Amino acid sequence: METIFSKIIAKEIPADIVYEDDQILAFLDIKPVNPGHTLVIPKEPVIDGVEASEETMAAVMRVAQKVARAQKKTLGCTGVNYIMNNGEDAGQEVFHAHMHVIPRYKDDNTFSSPNHNDYKEGEVTEIADKLRDTI
Ligand code: 5GP
Repeated sequence: METIFSKIIAKEIPADIVYEDDQILAFLDIKPVNPGHTLVIPKEPVIDGVEASEETMAAVMRVAQKVARAQKKTLGCTGVNYIMNNGEDAGQEVFHAHMHVIPRYKDDNTFSSPNHNDYKEGEVTEIADKLRDTI
C-alpha cells in the first residue's frame, strides 16, 4: 500500500533523514512533540508493528535505540519515549509501521498520562492465563 512514508522511502518527497541502511530509514517527524522527534521505519511496506516480522521489529528497535542515544547526547534530553501506534484505534494515522522516538525533558508537559483502571475480581488471572497460553 502506498503511503506518505513509502514516498519518503522512494525519495519522491523530501524528509530530514537522520539514518539509513538497507532495511531501515529514520527521519524527523514533521510535527514534533519535541524538537528531534524521530520516526524509525522499515523500508519494507508493512502496515504496523504487529504485522511486521520479528526480524523487522528487531531492526526497528536497533535503530530506535541509536536515535535515542544520539538525542540524549546532542539535544540534552533527559528521557526518551519509544511509542508505536498499531491500528487506527491505537491512534495510528499513517499505515506504514513506524516507531516514534521522542526526546523528553523534566516537566515538558507534552503528553497527558493514560488512564489506568482496576481489574474486576478474578479478571487479572483470567487474562494472564489467556495471554500466557497464546504466547
Ligand atoms: P501515527 O499517528 O500514525 O503514529 O504518526 C504519524 C506521524 O507521522 C505523525 O506524528 C505525523 O506528524 C508524521 N507525519 C505525517 N506526515 C508526514 C510527512 O509527510 N513527513 C514527516 N516527516 N512526518 C509526517
